[in-house]
Amino acid sequence: MATQLKCTHCGDWGEDPNSCASCGTPRDVHSTFANQGNPERFKAFEMPAMEWNTNKKIPTWKRSIINTGKALNWMVLAVGGAIAWMAYWVAV
Ligand SMILES: [Zn+2]
Repeated sequence: MATQLKCTHCGDWGEDPNSCASCGTPRDVHSTFANQGNPERFKAFEMPAMEWNTNKKIPTWKRSIINTGKALNWMVLAVGGAIAWMAYWVAV
């Protein structure tokens, strides 16, 4: 999804969240509705999806620990969901 952002310097509109395509002025992140690099902001009312951490700034070994944690978290949620589902059918 592309968001049109207005440049506070020249007033032109563009899709680049980091800087203006016309004059190159960096976006003032506090005065615009720019996504600010956080994809969660557009998905606040959607079911969270399993996403692997692919951040290139984090070393690979650290990322594998984070991703193992993410997988464990989803496994716990899946088991919890299965128990809740079974409890529902026991109750009715
Ligand atoms: Zn501009």
